[in-house]
Amino acid sequence: MGAIVVGGGLAGSEAAWQLARQGIEVDLYEMRPHVPTAAHHSGWLGELVCSNSLRADSPENAAGLLKEELRFLNSLVLNAADRSRVPAGGALAVDREGFARAVTEGVSSHPLIRVHRKELDRIPGGDLVILATGPLTTGLLAKDIQRRLGTGYLHFFDAAAPLVTAESVNMAVAWWGARYDKGTPDYINCPLDEGQYHVLVDFLINATRHIPKIEGESSYFEGCMPVEEMARRGPLTLAYGPLKPVGLIDPRTGKRHFAVVQLRIDNRQRSLFNLVGFQTSLIHAEQRRMMTLIPGLEDAEIVRYGMMHQNSYIHSPVVLQATGACRQAPGLFFAGQLTGVEGYIESVASGLVAGINGARFLRGQPAVMFPPETAIGGLMDYIVTAEPDHFQPTNINWGLLPPLEKRVKQKKQRNAQLAMRARRSLQAFRQSEGI
Ligand SMILES: Cc1cc2nc3c(=O)[nH]c(=O)nc-3n(C[C@H](O)[C@H](O)[C@H](O)COP(=O)(O)OP(=O)(O)OC[C@H]3O[C@@H](n4cnc5c(N)ncnc54)[C@H](O)[C@@H]3O)c2cc1C
Repeated sequence: MGAIVVGGGLAGSEAAWQLARQGIEVDLYEMRPHVPTAAHHSGWLGELVCSNSLRADSPENAAGLLKEELRFLNSLVLNAADRSRVPAGGALAVDREGFARAVTEGVSSHPLIRVHRKELDRIPGGDLVILATGPLTTGLLAKDIQRRLGTGYLHFFDAAAPLVTAESVNMAVAWWGARYDKGTPDYINCPLDEGQYHVLVDFLINATRHIPKIEGESSYFEGCMPVEEMARRGPLTLAYGPLKPVGLIDPRTGKRHFAVVQLRIDNRQRSLFNLVGFQTSLIHAEQRRMMTLIPGLEDAEIVRYGMMHQNSYIHSPVVLQATGACRQAPGLFFAGQLTGVEGYIESVASGLVAGINGARFLRGQPAVMFPPETAIGGLMDYIVTAEPDHFQPTNINWGLLPPLEKRVKQKKQRNAQLAMRARRSLQAFRQSEGI
């Protein structure tokens, strides 16, 4: 009696690990490096496809609470992230390769997990199958999933930001700092005056883009909007968005600039940086021109270009349960971005839920539903109960948790109480369910 997990990304790696640590034998199928995707660049399991940030790490933030819960439940992926952490102020950012290496080693060295490097073109047979093939699930398998579920996929556009080398940034122009001087000064800041800002915005509006052809209609995911699309929304949209200068005082002049492009450390050696909020669909030549318009990046060496692609997910409110199991086929589970959760840690969380419940299914035990007042439970509850006609992928946020019994006006206090309630609830749940 064993399990099959398809997809060795963030969700699939976590699901395989959770199954194995409960004594279940796992066959994990990952097609890379033999079959590439449009976004991955290696054969590592758990490769991060864009940003190296897993977002905020403090439980004052819903993303921080979700991480706390994953750590509490012995998540393999969170453990790998903690071990490969690089400085990023209040965020959990990781050395990209060190992180993927740690996930790969964690999975491959487990005696109960066999990793097969193979593309599957249909849902495999087996007592328990977890599909975690992500937003770039390959065509034949995607068709088979649609056939089995009896509903079409939903789509949106997603984009990634370019990566540049540290040594190509002109530090005579840029400076190290952190917003509001919080934590250590881990970001490189490139300042723009008002004139430079508007030249950049005009360029972004008119630059040539490459938008992949897709079947049907797609919309943008608001949390990952291409920078040129933001520029089109209004001349100051970027100045109030990713280029906002608030809390960034140039130590050389004591002044605040009109706008600031921030670069985040991408690896432990601090040799690579990604442009925060600069996910883009511009063609490569235009991305090179864009750099020349950002002070400090005029000679930046791009080691990975930004790109845009289609992102597909299943119609979870119709076909999925909060346990990760498919409504029509109890031995078939889904995990990760494919289910309509959005983001790295959200994908890990849904992989963890599928792994825990997959093991219970094989042992003949009833599945567990995470309490909705926990971040994991709130997220899972949302994707299966959202309004089906307008179902959109979601990041974790406080709005997914039920409101407190007594209204708390102050946001900071409210969030602290939500986090405390979640913590208590998860502890009790873990004890009562023996997880
Ligand atoms: C370009 C891009 C940029 C993104 N940027 C961010 C970001 O910056 N921050 C963020 O939080 N989230 C981001 N996301 C969203 C999401 O968090 C990631 O896609 C995340 O990797 C999802 O995890 P997953 O495990 O569901 O899928 P993946 O990590 O993509 O894993 C799926 C795995 O399945 C494999 N696979 C696919 N089809 C088959 C098949 N037929 N047979 C065998 N193996 C198969 C793939 O090779 C892959 O390894 C981005 C997504 C994309 C596509």
